Amino acid sequence: MLVRKFGGTSVKDASAVKRTVDIVLSSSEKQIVVVSALAGITNLLVSISDSIRQHQLEFAITSLEEVRNRHITLVNELNAGDVALNFVNQICDELQRIIIALDVIGEVSAKSFDKILSVGEVLSSFIISEYAGSINNKVCHLDSRSVIKTDSSFMEAEVDFEITSEKINSSMSNLNNYDVFICGGFIGSDKFDSTTTLGRGGSDYSAAVYAKCIKASKLEIWTDVDGILTSDPRLISNALLLKEVSYKEAAELAYFGAKVLHPKTIFPAIQDEIPVYVLNSYKPEGAGTLIRKDSEFGNIIKAIAFRKNITVINISSNRMLGAYGFLAKVFDVFLKNETSVDLVTTSEVSISLTIENDKNLQEIIHDLGEFASIEIYRKRAIISAVGEGIRDTSGIASRFFRALDGVNILMISMGASEVNLSIIVDDSELNKAVELLHKEFFETDIENRLFVKLN
Ligand code: ASP
Repeated sequence: MLVRKFGGTSVKDASAVKRTVDIVLSSSEKQIVVVSALAGITNLLVSISDSIRQHQLEFAITSLEEVRNRHITLVNELNAGDVALNFVNQICDELQRIIIALDVIGEVSAKSFDKILSVGEVLSSFIISEYAGSINNKVCHLDSRSVIKTDSSFMEAEVDFEITSEKINSSMSNLNNYDVFICGGFIGSDKFDSTTTLGRGGSDYSAAVYAKCIKASKLEIWTDVDGILTSDPRLISNALLLKEVSYKEAAELAYFGAKVLHPKTIFPAIQDEIPVYVLNSYKPEGAGTLIRKDSEFGNIIKAIAFRKNITVINISSNRMLGAYGFLAKVFDVFLKNETSVDLVTTSEVSISLTIENDKNLQEIIHDLGEFASIEIYRKRAIISAVGEGIRDTSGIASRFFRALDGVNILMISMGASEVNLSIIVDDSELNKAVELLHKEFFETDIENRLFVKLN
């Protein structure tokens, strides 16, 4: 059995839904299909909640009508039928009552927020299953709120795998006349049956939960990009598509190109070693990228990834020499200021680290300044070569640095996972450095079995 997830852009309007349903129905395998809200709808629902908080009732109602209209247009263009149409109106009327009630108290609790946000997936999954069901009578709707059981941490609910697995499997055996189960991603419910959500971008996670619970043979994540590429095509126009990466490589790359998918979100599938495919619903014939435990091509670099606008913090203190607890004190400052540290290198008397979110930088400088001298460098960039090959193949690091001849490298770090060799350069040198590295590793002498040229 197979689990497929289609993101917001794959269901954003009638032609996208038709394309998606074609993909779904072209397979004869039994499958669970997890869909996101139509592109843009979750953000619209967030803005409805914001408007309620700011007592802008009129704006909230206008946005609600936008939600209603987009779905009614979809139903009409798909000819999805009256049941779907009535459902849209029923859910939107209910949302209107919720908005008005919350406006009276002028407050949106996390629980109410989840109720509002769930509307996107509740609607998309129902409409798509009505439409697909009108083409093929083996399709049915499975309401994720009745099977994905979570705790009550609204907005970031934790799934209870035991109960969820039981619920999914028993629902599917009750519905054993059907082969295609269409479910909304992102949503679930707690033990009191209150609606919960799994965090933004949570549909990938839902799909991985379903995959784990039914012991799926594979998980397909359908999106609007070709898969994982050797670099960002906006900078490297001849970036290549990778046919395969390992879970570890995908995890490293997600930090840079989180748009494709975040490993945290597919963790349940990774845990059970279920192969994950990233595919493009706009080009279903494309090869896509397979993510699995041990990628067959372990001895090479897979990608040159980067991130701009990084702040480097150099911390030095002669009290550090031979002392213990110094690093703990440094990291305490970042904990206190809720700032995530990305790269770290350390010597006996100094530490360099990078942060991306510099919202609390002033507080961080102040707190570190209590016990160390600090230098701050803004507008830097991280460039990483990612690949399991870094661990086992000699000569990669030397090629990496030779290719960068003439580029001023400010910091070097090799992650503990040993699949990531990272450097920091000035933002102004980023493009040149990435181009040089891409050329070195992907524009001469590449293994064609692993890479696909796009266009
Ligand atoms: N619709 C939700 C969001 O935009 C979940 C998802 O699409 O993954 O975050």
